[in-house]
Amino acid sequence: MELGIIGLPNSGKSTLFNALTEAGISADNYPFCTIEPNIGVVNVEDNRLEKLCQEYNPEDCTPAPIKFVDIAGLVEGASKGEGLGNKFLSHIREVEAIIHVVRFFEDENVAHVSGDIDPVQDIKIIENELIEADLETLRRRQEKTEKMLKTGEDKYKEEMKIIKKIEQALESGIPVRLQKLNDNARRLANELFFLTDKPVLYVANMSEQQLTELNNIENFQSLKNKAENEEAELIELSAVFELELIDLETDEKEIFLNELGLEEPGLKKLIQAGYELLDLITFYTVAGGREVRATPIPEGTEIIKAAGKIHSSMEEGFIRAEVVNFKDWDSFDGMAGARDAGKVRIEGKDYIVEDGDICHFRFKD
Ligand code: GDP
Repeated sequence: MELGIIGLPNSGKSTLFNALTEAGISADNYPFCTIEPNIGVVNVEDNRLEKLCQEYNPEDCTPAPIKFVDIAGLVEGASKGEGLGNKFLSHIREVEAIIHVVRFFEDENVAHVSGDIDPVQDIKIIENELIEADLETLRRRQEKTEKMLKTGEDKYKEEMKIIKKIEQALESGIPVRLQKLNDNARRLANELFFLTDKPVLYVANMSEQQLTELNNIENFQSLKNKAENEEAELIELSAVFELELIDLETDEKEIFLNELGLEEPGLKKLIQAGYELLDLITFYTVAGGREVRATPIPEGTEIIKAAGKIHSSMEEGFIRAEVVNFKDWDSFDGMAGARDAGKVRIEGKDYIVEDGDICHFRFKD
């Protein structure tokens, strides 16, 4: 599951990406690794995992990872092949959700692509490119559907109607994710992997000064309204400041954060929000004293598939699982207490895993 970082050039994407990945390197419990120069894995902080690890004291305490991809090079005209347009659009197609970085900081040494700092307008520029790419996807589908209309089947007539409706909405600037779609339209949208259908969160990249005077920044209020209307998360941070924070000792960090009236680094908020944006839940496995692991899965996953995330042999040889939710584990003081209280269940392969389940798989090796 990957989150793509997009935004206009010079909005601070790479700075943010570096901060995310370097923060990972320096934190002992949350090791980071770079897969490719523009892809990084960041591990998600997790209080439940920490409690489990305190209890079991395993050799390895493995947090849930999420991947961030720095998708540079998206410029006006990308959908028409400007710059390396199509290549970057295809990178966006591969991610599950989008972090859209918007520039608020002012710096005469860092050129702003469209001259002025106008965040809502900047978002529009990028969004228009994604909309153009989706219109293209839709046109290709329309050509196929038109041919199928000759069969006289009703479902193709219905599909043509859906295509027209999505097209009209896109042409008036409404991303697919904000369109009201009936079940059939939703199915078609899922099939076509529209770029504007992916969940989005906005990052307002600001100077430290700006962070202390949010209410006075008119542009910020406009972006806030936009995000609220879209029910999208908006996180304000300073990418440069976050990068500087990383090398500081804990007490120094606190002093710097306090100065800006912040309780925690913006990155921490961003990683959590990113995890939520991907609509993932977490289950846990405890392997003797060896490893306690948090594993992300999409909501609605059957337990046999969840077992396969740990090891393919666990899925192939799956017999059953012992399951207790972390809430019960925690409130009955561990496994023995939860068992006495009848909270440890035996579940078969079709059981749908819930967030916080601690699963112990029985499988034929
Ligand atoms: P990208 O093109 O979106 O990846 O942007 P970069 O992260 O490469 O940033 C472009 C330039 O803006 C770099 O020189 C950064 O150091 C600078 N920059 C990024 N964030 C800030 C900020 O909050 N304040 C200032 N003054 N400069 C920043």
